Parts: sequence; structure tokens; C-alpha cells
Amino acid sequence: MEIAIIAHDGKKAEMVQFLNENAKILHRNEISLVSTGTTGNKVEKAGFQVTKLLSGPVGGDAQIAARVAEGKCQMIIFFRDPLEKHPHEPDISMLMRLCDVHNVPLATNPATGTMLFQAIGA
Ligand code: PGA
Repeated sequence: MEIAIIAHDGKKAEMVQFLNENAKILHRNEISLVSTGTTGNKVEKAGFQVTKLLSGPVGGDAQIAARVAEGKCQMIIFFRDPLEKHPHEPDISMLMRLCDVHNVPLATNPATGTMLFQAIGA
């Protein structure tokens, strides 16, 4: 199963904490992580294996959206920063729209992410 992770700058530390809290579920279920570039760097430094795509503002969100459309990615954990503006807002909207088009679960905060991970299995 492939899960995409994306975190805006104000949320990257929260993403690392979230993955650490759920590391056992990741390992037990043979999940492969893909991510936008800068999020991937942070997550890698924390000891997780991740396939890094482009950074979000230069196309990383669009690449993940394409993976959703192609059926390659089965879940998105996307910690957005609701208090900041983002130059790539159109890409973010596209990603969220394609999750709805293809019925792919999308968590935008740790509480929802934890529920999705619990659904994958302990
Ligand atoms: P980043 O992209 O992981 O490269 O910072 C995240 C985003 O802003 O979409």
C-alpha cells in the first residue's frame, strides 16, 4: 500500500511526530511512503524510508495528485497550514478534488490521520 505524506512548513514537525507515533503500524503493514520534497527530507532525517517527489510549490502536490488519479496511491496524509497562504493553492485544490473523484482517503490533521491508520490495522 502506498501512502503519500505532505506537510506545510508550519506542520512538518507535527508530521514527524505523527509518523513516530504510528511507526509500528507503518512497518507491520508494509506501507511505502511517498512525499513532497521538503517533507520527505525531514521524514528521512527522522529515520523513515520515503520516495521523495518535487517540492510542493514546484509541482510535488501535482505529482501526488497524478498518482491518485492513476490508482497508485491509496491514502493521503496532508497536514496543511490553515493560517498561511500558499502560492500553489491550485495544485492543493486539485489534489483534494482528485481524492474525492477517486474516493481516496485524505487526512488533513493528526486526529483524522490517526483514525485512518487505526483502520489500516494495529
Ligand atoms: P514540501 O511541499 O514538502 O516540499 O515543503 C509541501 C507543500 O507545500 O505542498
